[in-house]
Amino acid sequence: MEMDKAEIKKLAEFCQKMGLKFTSARRKVLETIMACPSHFQAEDLLVQMRQQGVKVSKASIYRTLPLLVQGSFIREVGVGDKQTHYQYSYGRPALDHLICLNCGKISEFRESKVNLALQEIYQKYGFTPKKEVILEIEGYCEFCRHAIPES
Ligand SMILES: [Zn+2]
Repeated sequence: MEMDKAEIKKLAEFCQKMGLKFTSARRKVLETIMACPSHFQAEDLLVQMRQQGVKVSKASIYRTLPLLVQGSFIREVGVGDKQTHYQYSYGRPALDHLICLNCGKISEFRESKVNLALQEIYQKYGFTPKKEVILEIEGYCEFCRHAIPES
């Protein structure tokens, strides 16, 4: 909750840069996210903040999340037909995701081989990626794969 957390300062700077007010709601959203163990949805934040007695509207959470994505504080994970999940990403390396379509479990991994392969591809095509690449592979986890009827 202290004022001098690097992330909070960074968010204040980012809001200023974007010509936006650094409101207590935006600050609270980021603080709540920082306390989240891993992946979360907008709804999770709402529930958590209400439980902590924070007065925040659903709309203000939904407005703050894209801002935080833009500022690289969080990243979107598993943007599929299901609800968008987010992950706190400030100062954290990109991790690839295995997303279970049945139970919603998200497993993270990063194989150095993946990075190497990407570097080779960029070199081969003389290409510079705009943002970090995160693999999002949808399927079924080890517990759910048995429950899936064979097609
Ligand atoms: Zn599963």
